[in-house]
Amino acid sequence: MQELIRQLLAELGEDPSREGLLNTPKRVEKALRFLTGGYNTDVDEVLNGALFTVDYSEMVIVKDVDFYSLCEHHLLPFFGKCHVAYIPRTKVIGLSKIPRLVDIFSRRLQIQERLTSQIADTIREKINPLGVAVVMEATHLCMSMRGVEKQNSFCVTSSMLGAFRDNARTRMEFLELIKLRTAIRTTAEPMAACVDD
Ligand SMILES: [Zn+2]
Repeated sequence: MQELIRQLLAELGEDPSREGLLNTPKRVEKALRFLTGGYNTDVDEVLNGALFTVDYSEMVIVKDVDFYSLCEHHLLPFFGKCHVAYIPRTKVIGLSKIPRLVDIFSRRLQIQERLTSQIADTIREKINPLGVAVVMEATHLCMSMRGVEKQNSFCVTSSMLGAFRDNARTRMEFLELIKLRTAIRTTAEPMAACVDD
């Protein structure tokens, strides 16, 4: 990877051998491996021992989870807050594991819609709750830095399953609790979170 990054620097018109860039290929490789580390992380290993049987069915909410991801169209960051809620049927997930789940799927090349769905689908798959909701609010540097569609560089996506999809009151209670003021784009709409040109 480091040789490719040296070539990339040269293609950009830089001199990869100048002092300030000498260790850049090594640093970039290290950073990219960290930022895409989600590919090598096993969900079951992370959740191992953190699923608990309960006999209540009140809404569990983990909000304002910071996340950082890379858009697959430009390899540029998009980042923001993730809010997760679910209503347990028989099982809950240890609270500290929710941000870990968000990390696993964020640290890959992503589009925001798919990232949102993957987190919701994984929670549904692992604990079969009565419902699960995930809302992600993010700024996309591929849009704001390039000066295109500035009004859309902030993007909100959601995935609502089970009770959050079927019951408007449940959904509203969740949205009220995370105090979302922006309009939500649902994953059902076929729009990409960033323009791909
Ligand atoms: Zn992009």
